[in-house]
Amino acid sequence: MNNLFSAIRAFSMIFMGACAFPSTEPEASPNERIRELGLQELATIDPKSADIGRWKTWLTDYQFHDEYPDDRYVWLTCVLALEAVSAGNAGIGCILIDDSGDVVVRGHNEVFNPYFRSDMHAEMVVMDKFEDTHQNITKLEGYTLYTSLESCPMCLIRLISSGVNTVLYAAPDMAYGIVHRMGELPLAWIELAERQTFGQARCSQELVNAANKIFLLNIDELNEKLRSR
Ligand SMILES: [Zn+2]
Repeated sequence: MNNLFSAIRAFSMIFMGACAFPSTEPEASPNERIRELGLQELATIDPKSADIGRWKTWLTDYQFHDEYPDDRYVWLTCVLALEAVSAGNAGIGCILIDDSGDVVVRGHNEVFNPYFRSDMHAEMVVMDKFEDTHQNITKLEGYTLYTSLESCPMCLIRLISSGVNTVLYAAPDMAYGIVHRMGELPLAWIELAERQTFGQARCSQELVNAANKIFLLNIDELNEKLRSR
């Protein structure tokens, strides 16, 4: 009886081995991988207003412009920004990618929801997640952080301290943004930032406009909430 079981098992293993063909599916391109991530995020967005519904459709239909190397990443930050608006937070999205271009962490502003946390800007959310879950990584060479909107002073200091190699934003924020005038920081921060690159992402103008308009969707209402505290 034991011999019979052994024979059956041996036959099964040979048969299964013969069927174990290597996968012939081509590996997804960087564009496809990012699009898939973004479409998954978009599917979770509740189009609770006509504006959110319109931007959801626009982002779903957007085709990457391959002449702009940061287009797909900025698109993903816009998707996350819309998700933030839908949740009642400020419309800013952020991702951190590694040197292979893979998205390591993604997040968005969480100042108002699930509960008020004045420090939960998109960049802080992403860096908190990264530092909590990658404690063994001590050098962020090759890492790039993308935000849909230019960083504020609090986030810029955090990003300089974090050592993230490159920080790129889509839409400038002339009112609250500090990256375009980093020269106004105290000298010690300017010197520390010399090991890093800060600037505007290379993406289509349509995406810059989208990042800006998604941010403007609810910002007046949220600023009013801040002022009333
Ligand atoms: Zn900030």
